[in-house]
Amino acid sequence: MGFSIESILEALGGSLEPLLEAIKKGDIKGVVALVSCTTLRNGPHDENTVTIAKELIKRDILVLSMGCGNAAVQVAGLTSLEAQELAGERLKKVLKALNIPPVLSFGTCTDTGRLAQLVIAIANELGVDTAQLPIAATAPEYMEQKATIDAIFAVALGVYTHVAPLPPVTGAPELVKLLTDDVEKLTGGKLAPECDPLEAVDWIEKHILKRRKELGI
Ligand code: SF4
Repeated sequence: MGFSIESILEALGGSLEPLLEAIKKGDIKGVVALVSCTTLRNGPHDENTVTIAKELIKRDILVLSMGCGNAAVQVAGLTSLEAQELAGERLKKVLKALNIPPVLSFGTCTDTGRLAQLVIAIANELGVDTAQLPIAATAPEYMEQKATIDAIFAVALGVYTHVAPLPPVTGAPELVKLLTDDVEKLTGGKLAPECDPLEAVDWIEKHILKRRKELGI
C-alpha cells in the first residue's frame, strides 16, 4: 500500500483533523519518518530498519517510510493491514478506525520534500513551529550521499534525526559538536547517532514525550 499526502488526507476523510486529534489525545504518541538506505555495515541486511519500525509502532508511534529501507518494511509485512496487530493498543485503535497500516509507505528518499509539506501542514494546523512537533526522523541503515542530504534537510527543518551506523565525521570534533549539539539552538533539530536500534527508539520516544510535554498534550 503506497501513500502520498493526498491519499493520507483521503484516508482521513479529507482533513488532517482526525490525525491531529489522535496526536493530541495521545492515541498516536508521535510520528517518525523512517528514511533509510540498506547496508551491512551495522548488522544483517535490513535488520536494524525492521527492528526500529516494529519497536516504534509497538510504542504507539506512527511510521512514514521512505527510501530503500522502505522495501525492508514492506517485505517484513509492516505496510499491510495485518500489521495493525503489531501496533500498541492505542495506535491500533486509530489504525483500525482509519483502515490504514502502522507503517505508511511514502516513496523514495528523494521525495522528502512531500514529507516536509505534510510536517509543515501539521505544524500550521497546530499553530506551532515544525521543531515543536512530537516527531522525529530515523535512518537506521544510512549508506550514501542522498541520505546525508536528507538528514541535513531534516535537521534544518527542526527535526530530531537518528542516524546509524556512525557517520565518518568523528575525526572532526567541531563538526560533531555542531551536528549533535550546537545546531539545536539554531533550528531545534539535531543529528542523533545511535548504533543500538532499541536504544535509538528509547531516545526517539524520549524526544517525542519531551515535545508533547512542552506542547501541553
Ligand atoms: S540514498 Fe541511495 S541507497 Fe539510500 S535510500 Fe536513497 S537511493 Fe536508496
